[in-house]
Amino acid sequence: MHKFGGSSLADVGRFRSACALLDDDAAAHRVVVASAMQGTTDALLALIADAHRGSDWMPAWAALRSRHLAVADALQPAQRTFASLHNARAGQAEALAAAETPVRPGLHEALLDGFDALRNELAALPADGERLERAATRIQGYGELWSSLLLQAALGGTAAGWERLDAREVLVVHPGEMGAGVDREQSRARLHAWRARNRGRDVVVTGFIARDAHGEATTLGRNGSDYSASIFADLFDADALTIWTDVDGVLSADPRLVPDAVCLPAISYAEACELAYFGARVLHPQTLAPVQARGIPVRIRNTLRPQAPGTLICADGDATPTAFGGGPVKGLSLVDDLAVLELTGNGLVGVPGIAERLFAALHGAGVSVTMISQGSSEHSICCVVRAGQAERGRDAIRAAFADAIADGQAQGVQVTGDICVLAAVGDGMVGHHGVAARLFGGLAQARVNVRAIAQGASERNLSVAIARADATRALRAAHAAFWLSPQTVSIGLIGPGNVGRTLLRQLAEVAPGLRERSGVDLRLRAIGNSRGMTLDHAAIAPAEALDRLGADSAQTLDLDAFAAHVRAEHLPHAMIVDCSASDAVAAKYPEWLAAGIHVVTPNKHAGSGDWARYAAIAAARRAGGGRFLYEATVGAGLPVILTLRNLLDTGDVLHGIDGMLSGTLAWLFNSYGCSSRPFSALVREARGLGYTEPDPRDDLSGLDVARKLVILAREAGRELSLDDVEVESLVPESLRQASLDEFLARLEELDAPMQARLDAAHADGCRLRHLARLGEDGRASVGVVALAADHACCHTRLTDNLVQFRSARYADNPLVVQGPGAGPEVTAAGVFGDVLAIAQSLGARS
Ligand code: ADP
Ligand code: ASP
Ligand code: MG
Repeated sequence: MHKFGGSSLADVGRFRSACALLDDDAAAHRVVVASAMQGTTDALLALIADAHRGSDWMPAWAALRSRHLAVADALQPAQRTFASLHNARAGQAEALAAAETPVRPGLHEALLDGFDALRNELAALPADGERLERAATRIQGYGELWSSLLLQAALGGTAAGWERLDAREVLVVHPGEMGAGVDREQSRARLHAWRARNRGRDVVVTGFIARDAHGEATTLGRNGSDYSASIFADLFDADALTIWTDVDGVLSADPRLVPDAVCLPAISYAEACELAYFGARVLHPQTLAPVQARGIPVRIRNTLRPQAPGTLICADGDATPTAFGGGPVKGLSLVDDLAVLELTGNGLVGVPGIAERLFAALHGAGVSVTMISQGSSEHSICCVVRAGQAERGRDAIRAAFADAIADGQAQGVQVTGDICVLAAVGDGMVGHHGVAARLFGGLAQARVNVRAIAQGASERNLSVAIARADATRALRAAHAAFWLSPQTVSIGLIGPGNVGRTLLRQLAEVAPGLRERSGVDLRLRAIGNSRGMTLDHAAIAPAEALDRLGADSAQTLDLDAFAAHVRAEHLPHAMIVDCSASDAVAAKYPEWLAAGIHVVTPNKHAGSGDWARYAAIAAARRAGGGRFLYEATVGAGLPVILTLRNLLDTGDVLHGIDGMLSGTLAWLFNSYGCSSRPFSALVREARGLGYTEPDPRDDLSGLDVARKLVILAREAGRELSLDDVEVESLVPESLRQASLDEFLARLEELDAPMQARLDAAHADGCRLRHLARLGEDGRASVGVVALAADHACCHTRLTDNLVQFRSARYADNPLVVQGPGAGPEVTAAGVFGDVLAIAQSLGARS
C-alpha cells in the first residue's frame, strides 16, 4: 500500500516520479491512495465560499481546470489536446475526426465531466442548511477524483493492469466526535464485491473521501488521505504501507518552526499517534489505528529524496534514545487555536463528583477536551478545549454549576483564549526522571510562562498550555533543551581585525574537540565589520568566515539585525564577541545584555568610557541578563581582571595597583638605559618591529594605559573615569598637533628631557619605568616614574606586562601577575578564555 500526499502530486513531474517509485515495488500487488493535487482542496473550499457569498468563482474554477488538464496533456501528449476535445464537445465533429491518434475517451473526458459537474454544483449551491453542508462535503472531494484519474493514466491505465477505485463506492464511515469511524464489515463486503467486478492487478484509490451509512458522500477530514491509506491497507490486507510526502519522515518537530528538527529513524504506533494528535501535520491523527490493529508497518518517506531511509512506524519503535544526552523524548508538537476553561471555587475542595459534573457538561455540549489539569487542592480545575468551542463549554459549565455559583461555593468559569498546547512525546518517558525538568528548564530560559501542565498516566506525553504568542519560541526552546547540548551558543563576531582573525583561527582549531569532549557547541552564526555583515541560519565555519564576509557585500552592518539574528530562538544561548575598537558597538552592550545576550570583548570603550553607560551595563548584568567579560582589555591573555575579581570576591581589601600595562612602553623602558641609545632611536626601532601603533603617539600619550587603569579601578568598585586619571604624555606639547611625518622627523626632540630624567634616576640608583598607579586614596596616575632597582617592575623582559596588587592579604609582598601582555595570539586567547568561562557558567565541564 502506498499513499502519495498532495505535495507529491503537485505537477506532472511529481506524477512521473510517483510512477517511478511505484515501479520499484512492481513485484508486489500495489494499491495506491492518491490525495488531491497540492492546493486543490483549499481551492475547492475557496470556490464554495465564493459561490456561497455570491462572488465570481468562474475564473478560479477555470484555473483549476486548466491546471488539471495541463497535467493530462503532458501525461498523454498523443491524445487530443484539451482544445480539440473542447471543440468536439461543442459539436464540431470534424475536430474529432481530424485527431490523428485513436481517441481514448478516458482521461480528458472524465476530467471535463468532473469540472462540468463541479460547475453545475457551484451554480446551484443551496443557500444554507443541511443541503448546503452536503453539497460542500461532496465538492471538497473532487480533487481526489481528478488526481486518481491522472495517476491511473500516468501508470498506464487499465491496459497496464491499473484499476481505479472511487472510495465512495466501498468505504463506509460514520462521522463521530473523534473523527470518522469505519464500518469495517460493510466496507470489506463492498470491496469484495467491487474486486469481483474489477480484477486488474493493481489499484489506484481516491484518498480523503468515503460514504456514510446513507450512501451520501463524506470525507475523513482535512489531511484525511493518510487515514484512507491506513484503512485501505487493512481492507486490502496489505503487508506494508508507505506514506510518500515532502519531508524525510517524521521529524522531532515541525521543520517549518524548528529549523534544527531531526528525522526519527523509527517510532512506535503509540508515539506516532500522540505526535499526530498533538498537531504534527505529517500524519492525520487517526491514521495509525487500522494498521496498528493489524501490525502493518508504516514507512514515511520523501518523494524528493527516495534514497533517505524515512521513518519506520511499528509496534516497538526504536528504544535507542534520539535526544541529546540520551533523553527519551522523541518528538515535540504543537496544537494551535485552543482556550483554557477554568472552574474555581473554595467550596469545591473535597466535594466528590465535581470533575464528573464538569466533563459531563462539556460532553453534553459536544465540546472535546484536549488536556485536563487539576491541582490536588481541587480549588480549581481547568481544561483546554478548542477555541471555537470555548464559549459553548463555558456556558455549559456555568449551567451545570449554577447552584454552586449561586451559593458562592464556586467563583465562576473563566475562559482564556489564544492558547497553544506543546506536547513532548516518547515511549521511553515512562520511569525516566528529569524529562519534565529539562522541558521546564528550556521554557524558563526562553521566558515562556506555563499556564497548565498535564502528564498522561502512560507517561508518553507531557503537555503544557502556553500563550499562543509564545508558541514558536517555546517549541524552539524545548527542542533545544532536548536535542542540543545545553551549552550550545549562537555566536556573532564583530570586527575581525588582527585579534578577531586570530580568534577565528583558534576557534577553527579547538571548537570541534571542545564539542566532542565537553558538549560545548560554539556556533558562529554571524560575522560583521564596518563594511558589512554575513548572517547564517545554521553556522559559518570559522575557517571560512573571513572569505564569506568578504564575498558578501550585499548587507551593510546593522547592529540591531545582527543581534536579533544571533539571539536565535532555536538555540539556547547567544553571545556577541566584539573585537572591534568601535564606540558605537560598545554603546549597544546594555541593550544586548538586557536581552540576555552575553558579551565578550577586548574593546576598551565600554569599560573605560562614559560612566552612565558603564552603570547601565552593570544594571543589565545584575538584572539577570547576559554576562559581560572583558579580560583581554587589560594585559591581553594574562589573568589580571580574574585575579582582581577573586581577591575582592573572597573578601580581600584592595590597597592599590601598580602596573606596567603597555607592552610597547614596557619594551621602550626595558631597553632605555641599558645602552647609550637615545630614546628616539628606540621609538623608531619599536615602530619598525611593529610594537607600536602606526602613529607612536597613540602609545606615548599614555591614554591607552589610562583606559586600562580605569577598567581595573572600576572593577575594584571605584567610580573612576578617564578625566580623573592624571596622565603624563610623553609627547611634548609642540608635537601633539603635528602630522605623523613631521612628528617622526622631529622625534629627537624627545631625547634631551628624557635623558635628564634617566640621569637623575641613575644617580639615585633607580630605573625609569612607565607605570599606571591606583593609590589607596583613590588617586590614579599614569606616567614615567623612577623605581628602585629591586622593584618587581625593573625585572621584566621585552614587552612583558606586570600588575601588582597590594591588598590586606597581600600587604607585605604584593600579588604579581606578569607575562607577555600584547599581540594577537595572546589577546585572542584571552577573549577565547572568556567565551569558555561563559560556557562553563552554562554548565559545561571542561
Ligand atoms: P502531504 O501533502 O504529503 O500529506 P502534508 O503537508 O500534509 O503532506 O504533511 C507534511 C508536512 O508536515 C511537512 O512538509 C512538514 O512541514 C509538516 N510537519 C509538521 N510536523 C512535522 C513533523 N513532526 N515531522 C515531519 N513533518 C511535519
Ligand atoms: N486533500 C485533502 C486535504 O487537503 C486530504 C489530504 O490531502 O490528505 O485535506
Ligand atoms: Mg497530509
